[in-house]
Amino acid sequence: MTKYPPTLHTLIALFKKIPGVGFKTAERYAFNLLNWNDNLLEEFARIASQLKTKIQPCHECGCLTEEHACSFCDIDQRDKTSICIVSSPKDVYPIEETHVYQGMYHVIAGLLSPLGGRSAHELQIDKIKKRVLDNQVTDIILALDSTLEGDATALFLREQLKDMHVNISRPAMGLPMGSSLDFVDGGTLAKALLGRQTF
Ligand SMILES: [Zn+2]
Repeated sequence: MTKYPPTLHTLIALFKKIPGVGFKTAERYAFNLLNWNDNLLEEFARIASQLKTKIQPCHECGCLTEEHACSFCDIDQRDKTSICIVSSPKDVYPIEETHVYQGMYHVIAGLLSPLGGRSAHELQIDKIKKRVLDNQVTDIILALDSTLEGDATALFLREQLKDMHVNISRPAMGLPMGSSLDFVDGGTLAKALLGRQTF
């Protein structure tokens, strides 16, 4: 790959870091950027460099925000007695798109892996319990991937929360086995949320 000028070579290598982007696509992106005008390129560079300082997890729920608290934690607009637990801040957006859920969210640090990796204490159960008590939460929805890791995490959370006197449910079937939330279409997700079952 010495045929590319070094800067272009580096740009292609950077794009290739994005999951699903292979060499050909990365090359196309890089050449496309060469056609952008200076203003656009400067904006692109500025936004990219500010990404990690501007966007932070909400101190309450872990959703992404540029403020101290996120818009999903606005208790005047949303139902604070319901918490939907997700494993990534990204999962909140397809759920919002369905317009069938108006409660709060809680982002856990990821899914438990039966093969090791993330440990149970990283899920910070105490923080979830505190929110349940503080807001008199009655419903917890475990909107986790329909995978081995998602199931293991859901079972663990149910066990940990069983004395909290809350109704715990998972989105109903319709979520194909082995699927993660971001690959499920909106209609299927809406149906799964509406028809959720006690877990
Ligand atoms: Zn929040």
